[in-house]
Amino acid sequence: MCGIVGYIGKQKASPILINGLMRLEYRGYDSAGISTIEADGLSIMKDKGRVKNLYNLEGINDLKGTIGIAHTRWATHGKPSKENAHPHQDNSKSFSVVHNGIIENYNELKKFLIDNGYKFYSETDTEIVPNLIHYYYTNNNNESGKMKFLTAVKKACSDLKGSFALEIICKDFPDNMVVVRKDSPLVIGKGIDENYISSDIPAILSFTRNFYLLNDFEYVFLSRDSAEFYDKDLNKIDKETKSIEWDATSSEKNGYDDFMLKEIHEQPTAIRETIGAKFNENSKCEFDGLDFSKDYLSSLNRIYIVACGTAMHAGLVGKNVIEKLCRIPTEVDIASEFRYRDPLIDDKTLCIFISQSGETADTIAALKLSKEKGAKTLAISNVIGSSITREADYSIYTHAGPEIAVASTKAYTSQVVLLVILAIYFAEILESDSENLVKLKKEILELPKQVEQCLQLKDKIKEFAKRIYQEKDVFFIGRGVDEAIAKEGCLKLKEISYIHSESYAAGELKHGAIALIEKGVTVVGVITEPTLVEKTISNIQEVITRGAKTLIVTNQKVDKSMFDTVLEIPETNPFISPVIATVPLQLLAYYISKEKGLDVDKPRNLAKSVTVE
Ligand code: GLU
Repeated sequence: MCGIVGYIGKQKASPILINGLMRLEYRGYDSAGISTIEADGLSIMKDKGRVKNLYNLEGINDLKGTIGIAHTRWATHGKPSKENAHPHQDNSKSFSVVHNGIIENYNELKKFLIDNGYKFYSETDTEIVPNLIHYYYTNNNNESGKMKFLTAVKKACSDLKGSFALEIICKDFPDNMVVVRKDSPLVIGKGIDENYISSDIPAILSFTRNFYLLNDFEYVFLSRDSAEFYDKDLNKIDKETKSIEWDATSSEKNGYDDFMLKEIHEQPTAIRETIGAKFNENSKCEFDGLDFSKDYLSSLNRIYIVACGTAMHAGLVGKNVIEKLCRIPTEVDIASEFRYRDPLIDDKTLCIFISQSGETADTIAALKLSKEKGAKTLAISNVIGSSITREADYSIYTHAGPEIAVASTKAYTSQVVLLVILAIYFAEILESDSENLVKLKKEILELPKQVEQCLQLKDKIKEFAKRIYQEKDVFFIGRGVDEAIAKEGCLKLKEISYIHSESYAAGELKHGAIALIEKGVTVVGVITEPTLVEKTISNIQEVITRGAKTLIVTNQKVDKSMFDTVLEIPETNPFISPVIATVPLQLLAYYISKEKGLDVDKPRNLAKSVTVE
């Protein structure tokens, strides 16, 4: 959510900044802007709407500065408008600032600044930041040079409550920039005689492979050829670069029409990479960095799996497997609810947090709460070094590669695979059900091939999409783990086609929602749970009787003549059927969105990495 880019080097900054913002467009935004250091002071160019509109701004091509900051805004405080777009400046135009996050106490700080003579020109929470920095800068007669700049930023940040990633340039420092973060993402890419700053790694991967990862309240004083790091009290600290092995081209579309379609097709590879060397047919599961004992796992009173959106749906599949294989009570919670519901947590609770980006603000906040209450915490993320993995006691990774499309596909299936392997790892330590575990492991190794088979269904799915793309409502139903699959299929459709859709436990339909079923309404039924086939079919029969058109995703023996369209997927263990049954539902949402002519990768109102609460 929102993107930050920065450049300090010897090249003209503005094209690099705008190009970097374009690479961050997938995160979702409503306005964009840049500020560079020019010979006559700080320039600001910003506007509402697309990044490419910046090229139409008068004077943008005349900018010569080789240092600059840039931002795509996802409005939290104040409507999307030119005035509210970032960068923001203090009243004397000495400092330019871009900010990702939310300043929770901005009203109080704004009042303080107004009392001290400052004026405000936007509705944002951000505008207090440059003014507060200016206030501390001008009221400091003890320091000079870079420490004066750093101290002003540090004092301002100590006053802020909430989340922030900040880039700051100052007209008194034509060769420097200061950056800092708290609970919002920011990385620094090290080049030769130049440094790049970005909200995430893929946006600047074509410039450098060497990155500095920042912890909360670490201040960085950047020059063209150096990056000096300071802790929260401005003591100097050392920091090593981390080299990133991702291929820059894996952030490109590789001939596919959209990132989402490319990522759907990358699932076999993502799953294979996620399984990695964690086990083979004859060996026990092992995770780098996990050292759980039988005593600890047997002593657990419960496991919480906490996440948001699609990752939460992966959690529902994880719950099913952990409870059945390990017999440990497991609850799945929505992160934004979890922290406010006073959850029952103590030192006998294990809390698992899932976030593709590892930067989801709600999930990070829930993790911090669980730690405070004494639980052990385990993070599941796709991004090494992301905030969630640095906060948690233990971290394990999906290896899906960069996921650019806002609607998650390969990250979801990789999360499910990883959770199932984690459940087997627990079960092996607890010494439960070893014969079935060997079989399950063999079946997991078959998944990449089976996903390939599901991708072959695309023509049939496209045909069905053409028939229903103008509909207003679609229902998704299933029982047991099939309900979790229905939920994910339903969310995908909502996210990228804007069609209203509901997911229901199939047996629950008759207790209310069946009142909405009338002639022609589409109902998507998922049938993979062998023990529930008959029951689910009875529920689908109930909607057929009321005129529904049915699309069935199944790997069970069913009487196909009953349904409108049947998508047959390979047979596998019900624990892992969500991995393959979700693929046709991803394709259904994709082709419906394409039929409607929508922007599949960047659906309205949504952001990829939700870094605000
Ligand atoms: N809270 C800030 C605003 O509304 C920043 C939002 C963002 O992260 O883009 O301007």
